[in-house]
Amino acid sequence: MRVAVIGGAGYIGSHTAKALARAGHEPVVVDNLSTGHREAVRWGPLHQVDIRDRAALNAAFHAIRPEAVMHFAALAYVGDSMRDPFAYYDTNLAGTLSLLEAMQAADCSRIVFSSSCATYGVPDRLPITEASPQHPTNPYGETKLACERLLHWAGQAHGLRWMALRYFNAAGADPEGEIGETHEPEPHLIPLALRAAAGTGAALKVMGTDYPTPDGTALRDYVHVSDLAAAHVLALEHLVAGSASRAVNLGTGTPHSVLGVIRTVEAVTGQAVPHEMADRRPGDPPELWADASLARSLLGWSPRYPSLDQMVETAWAWAAKTR
Ligand code: NAD
Repeated sequence: MRVAVIGGAGYIGSHTAKALARAGHEPVVVDNLSTGHREAVRWGPLHQVDIRDRAALNAAFHAIRPEAVMHFAALAYVGDSMRDPFAYYDTNLAGTLSLLEAMQAADCSRIVFSSSCATYGVPDRLPITEASPQHPTNPYGETKLACERLLHWAGQAHGLRWMALRYFNAAGADPEGEIGETHEPEPHLIPLALRAAAGTGAALKVMGTDYPTPDGTALRDYVHVSDLAAAHVLALEHLVAGSASRAVNLGTGTPHSVLGVIRTVEAVTGQAVPHEMADRRPGDPPELWADASLARSLLGWSPRYPSLDQMVETAWAWAAKTR
């Protein structure tokens, strides 16, 4: 299938473009390169378009004629969203609306959407299932939830078929070393810990040491980016098979604390991770980890790289290449 990969020059989108090509599909990337990288677009053409530019997006869709869409393009940083909510509503919600309209005009009715565990807020029970209440604690999570609701109503009104994949924390890099995570500035814990270990970045800030968790630092569920990519291909096949639209969690179901991640990075790299304790970051829930059993039963998804060691090893190999 010809699949428009919106945000396909970014971290998760580029890994998914590779997985699509490997599965025999034809990825075509649409990206404004705001946080993505031209050199990460290696498995199909690039249309450099901002999704909020309706005329340009319609023209791109007219040229591409996609049979399905995967939508990764977003602003995706919790802390940033607390400071600038308008920008998040603009790119994430208005951008998604513009995309759905372009799809409708191009007669394309299947979409796999990048949602997030941030839609759950502070969970009342762990692990988090798809039926857990969704009460986001930051504008980023709010915009992702609003997009999920928009997909639902577009399905009701216009027959849109959708899958919202609620990722937990993406980590690692392509095990073949072709692509990886390169964000500037980098907000994510594992790459920051690797930079601190390599001496190419500042001491790592451990944000919050008084959470009600065993070691006082926040617990998160890390999932390998290539496993996320594989899940997208399965979700596409699920839609093509005519199955119902719905949201699905993607995580490994294993929580790791910030201090636990630091220990793993130290073990993998053989280097100390200089770190300092800091205050909690506003908007961050204490713990988030997934019940991902629906992804297994519905999509047949099973993570190939479930251990944190594998995620850190592949990220370290990528960091060594790009240093
Ligand atoms: P990323 O920043 O690496 O990729 C996003 C891509 O979208 C970039 O290539 C960027 O240039 C592009 N983009 C942004 N705004 C655009 C616009 N207006 N028009 C066209 N292109 C635009 O981010 P990522 O980490 O790969 O995340 C991908 C998606 O997954 C996002 O929607 C994010 O919210 C979601 N997500 C990520 C994580 C994670 O741990 N990284 C977790 C949960 C959900």
